[in-house]
Amino acid sequence: MVDLTQLNPRQREAAKYVDGPLLVLAGAGSGKTSVITRKIAYLIDACGIKPHHIAAVTFTNKAAREMKERVAALTGKGGARGLTVSTFHNLGLNIIRQELATAGYKAGFSILDQDDCRGIIRDVMQREHGDDGDMVELVQNTISNLKNDLITPADAIHQAQSQQEMLIAQTYSIYQRMLKAYNAVDFDDLIMVPTLLFRDHPEVLVRWQKKIRYLLVDEYQDTNTSQYEMVKLLVGHRTGLTVVGDDDQSIYAWRGARPENLSLLKQDFPTLKIVKLEQNYRSTGLILNAANRVIDNNPHEFQKRLWSDMGYGDPIRILKCRNDEIEAERIASEIVERRLRYGAGYKDFAVLYRGNHQSRMMEMKLQAFQVPYKISGGQSFFGRNEIKDIMGYLRLLINPSDDAAFLRIINTPRREIGPTTIEKLSEYAMKRGTSMLSATTEMGLEQLLTPKAVDRLRRFGHWLAGITRNAYADDAIAAIKEMLEDIDYEGHLAQSSATPNQAERRMKNVWFLVDSIQKMIDKAEEVGDEVTIEDAVGKLILRDMLEQQENEDESDQVQLMTLHASKGLEYPHVYIVGMEEELMPHRNAIEADTIEEERRLMYVGITRAKRSLTLTYAGKRRQYGDVSDTTHSRFLDELPPDDIEWEGKTETTPEQQKQRGQETLAGLKNLFGDL
Ligand code: ATP
Ligand code: MG
Repeated sequence: MVDLTQLNPRQREAAKYVDGPLLVLAGAGSGKTSVITRKIAYLIDACGIKPHHIAAVTFTNKAAREMKERVAALTGKGGARGLTVSTFHNLGLNIIRQELATAGYKAGFSILDQDDCRGIIRDVMQREHGDDGDMVELVQNTISNLKNDLITPADAIHQAQSQQEMLIAQTYSIYQRMLKAYNAVDFDDLIMVPTLLFRDHPEVLVRWQKKIRYLLVDEYQDTNTSQYEMVKLLVGHRTGLTVVGDDDQSIYAWRGARPENLSLLKQDFPTLKIVKLEQNYRSTGLILNAANRVIDNNPHEFQKRLWSDMGYGDPIRILKCRNDEIEAERIASEIVERRLRYGAGYKDFAVLYRGNHQSRMMEMKLQAFQVPYKISGGQSFFGRNEIKDIMGYLRLLINPSDDAAFLRIINTPRREIGPTTIEKLSEYAMKRGTSMLSATTEMGLEQLLTPKAVDRLRRFGHWLAGITRNAYADDAIAAIKEMLEDIDYEGHLAQSSATPNQAERRMKNVWFLVDSIQKMIDKAEEVGDEVTIEDAVGKLILRDMLEQQENEDESDQVQLMTLHASKGLEYPHVYIVGMEEELMPHRNAIEADTIEEERRLMYVGITRAKRSLTLTYAGKRRQYGDVSDTTHSRFLDELPPDDIEWEGKTETTPEQQKQRGQETLAGLKNLFGDL
């Protein structure tokens, strides 16, 4: 039987309340998610509801996975079999799958990602309006918002008040027809389609109401209109609903989330019971106090107090670093050192940032210190297509027998070398016991392939041999740059990317890779070592492999993720990096005057920390190709000054900075011997 004694009286009350709809409204770390998991166990064990009649919905796949694990631990082996724990989108996907015909799709329908959808919208805009791509992003975002608000193409056309709105509504209409023609849905359809299905087909709704007898929703403050409508329809007039949320953690307004859905609940469910929780079980007093102080700067609809008896803990640290590279280096070296000092695991550390692009530098430095890490949400640097491409070329440069690399790049960019040619080349190489690359220039191919194919292969082989010679003979970086130019990789990206913006971002990643090689060579030269291209690329390959291996073993890795992706999670030691104006708060938020949402994001970030919190900023940051001076984030000034240690606020001289760097290094040397 489920044990509720570990809950405090309020939490227990919420877990046991099954007589009507319930809202648990409480601040971070007060045990909202814990109430949900215990309540599921209680519904199964004490109320006799079968697991397959219970659905719990949460925000990210990671959160869903964790919740499933927690419930399984509570109910024992097999006790929760059939239970649905998923994101809204996964639940929607299941509903569409099971109601395929009514929803108007055929079996085997596909889900298109953002890039695919943007491509379709781009085509429509170009064909219908001669748009050269400038409006694509705006149109895509607007269509997404319309869908999140459950507005159909017909409604949108009907409501349009300006020429631009009409243009978007018409594009939306054609776009939607094209998706249907492709037998495909986009991300927002996963919610809109089932919700409209429920609204327009009572027999479908009844079927699902019978299936889902009890619904629990975590992170309720971030539901959008269509998700809320889905919840309302599914629950109907029945009592089986528990939602938990915190208005101070609403961070998805930009994606259509409506925090006012919290207050709407009371109107839509007049018998709603509200439980507030006030004790935080996650963070030390100083961390909680800092979070409260920051969020106090926002207006409040619901008054909530939060206290903790975890002791005051260590002061919060703010570190000013000279530039973004030193910032990342400092954090990486600190993690190595603190892990040993605290006897902690790598997994006890999280590094949070505002934008995905900030992970690049952090990754490079963690790798340099051989610290295993995992990026949640975003994509890791070496996992990106453009990096895999260029690494393919580099791998071939240092190892002509690397057939896997050859296959990756022989047609990237396109060289019109067909699959038959590649098959025959591969057979030939195998027979001769040579690599595919060296086979390209062998005479024997002429008997097997058309003269055109032989010519194309041969030209490629000779070209790469030339580049390789240059890379070894003199300036390796110049050779790599020449290679990028010869294959017109930038042009290839422009063609294969959804938007010019995306192409530019991808090219920037490529330059980052080239820069890293350059730095390795420079660094070695500084100490009088000679580093060949082979050493440098070899090191990168090793890092790449290290990353892949570590990803297979999820057990002990530093967690890297955006502030958005960190919602609901907790870590003993948290770093929030890039605490600068225009980055956090984000430049767009400053311009659009949505600072309050950024402040909630800050609140989310701070409240992830259990024992220690470190905030860092860089005096200079490389962004968009330029290095610029920065100003520290206004949120740092909102922290209680007595509870923080602000290193570098009074300008430190370069000597002091250097001294500090040497101290850290000396500390590391004590632990490791010479690095
Ligand atoms: P967030 O708003 O960040 O999602 P939350 O309100 O969902 O936070 P939980 O993640 O459920 O909070 O709980 C925070 C931490 O407190 C967890 O480590 C949890 O195990 C612990 N906790 C919750 N309730 C209790 C309790 N009654 N006694 C001891 N620890 C508790
Ligand atoms: Mg939670």
